Amino acid sequence: MDSLLKHMVDMTGHRDHTMLDISVISAVQELAAASQTRVLALTSVRGQVFVRSRAIIVAGSVARMEEHNDPTLPGEPLSDYPALAACIKRHEASADTLCADGRHLLWLPIWIGDQVTTCLEITNPTPYTGATIQVIGGIVSVYRNFQNLLDYSERDALTGLLNRKTFDDQLAKILQSRGEPEAARPRPIDEERRHHTDTERQWLAVIDVDHFKLVNDKFGHLYGDEVLILIANQLQSSFRSQDRIFRFGGEEFVVLLRSITLENAQKIIDRFRTNVETHDFPQVGRVTVSVGFVSINAYEAPVIILGRADQALYYAKSHGRNLACHYDELVAKGLLTTITSNDTAEFF
Ligand code: GH3
Ligand code: MG
Ligand code: MG
Repeated sequence: MDSLLKHMVDMTGHRDHTMLDISVISAVQELAAASQTRVLALTSVRGQVFVRSRAIIVAGSVARMEEHNDPTLPGEPLSDYPALAACIKRHEASADTLCADGRHLLWLPIWIGDQVTTCLEITNPTPYTGATIQVIGGIVSVYRNFQNLLDYSERDALTGLLNRKTFDDQLAKILQSRGEPEAARPRPIDEERRHHTDTERQWLAVIDVDHFKLVNDKFGHLYGDEVLILIANQLQSSFRSQDRIFRFGGEEFVVLLRSITLENAQKIIDRFRTNVETHDFPQVGRVTVSVGFVSINAYEAPVIILGRADQALYYAKSHGRNLACHYDELVAKGLLTTITSNDTAEFF
């Protein structure tokens, strides 16, 4: 019991999903005397569900995040896990299976309403006793409640989108993970950034509602709030599930787009801009947005990347609004001054 309490204290002492995952698998591994425990992430891509291992602990070693934990890669299809697929389909609390090599696998999906985005997987050489399943069931409940609480603290209350603090954390993580494999290599030459029409890259787009103050002034704050909620919905339907959408503050939003080509990034961003422009907002009528976007370079500080997207956004604002502008294109055409890492602006 002492050990259980210790684990509960450890699990609830974190303010970060990664650390929560690490501490839950450490607890389950010890309490179930398991040979391996994993946290699996379940993502849905165009109606098909994929399973990706997020964190793992193997007997005799410490828990760790998976090395290739790239949330933009979906993983293995759920159909490779037939017992788990059947359990989820029937909305059940657990599933187990005996593998050909004698290992017992137990899956505990974390149900939030009727959705499962996380699942614990426990591997054991012997069958699970009722007492073990009961203890682990308790841990799963604490894990679920705490995950809910963390999700809540990461979101903006009005729109339900991820908030500014979460953006800061996630951008830092993306830059860190993209920088790691090439850490030993010299910084790429500036050409790297110029023309990548066929290369897949990650993108950051800053979106600002045009003349939003007028909406508030003319129709009142409540209608203004409704416009923000409807734009958040447009963002969620225009971008894909692996893109991350944030309310940055006020009437400003940021989207981190997963790896795609410049051509596709442009297409998707412009589709969103057009969706807003053609939407009939109740009472308010027509609303437009301006967008500035830039590719994410692991060698640049977040403030530089954001600064570039902001420069492109303000170019759109000062050239008629209702436009999506690409920073590198503006720089290449000599329409913008570059922002360099050492903060010394120069003409391109
Ligand atoms: P621009 O096209 O240059 O972006 O003009 P703008 O009027 O959109 O920009 P400005 O920065 O002058 O005004 C932003 C307004 O957004 C002012 C502020 O009152 C309003 N705002 C910020 N947060 C909220 C909110 O949560 N709800 C509502 N209703 N209004 C908000
Ligand atoms: Mg605005
Ligand atoms: Mg603004």
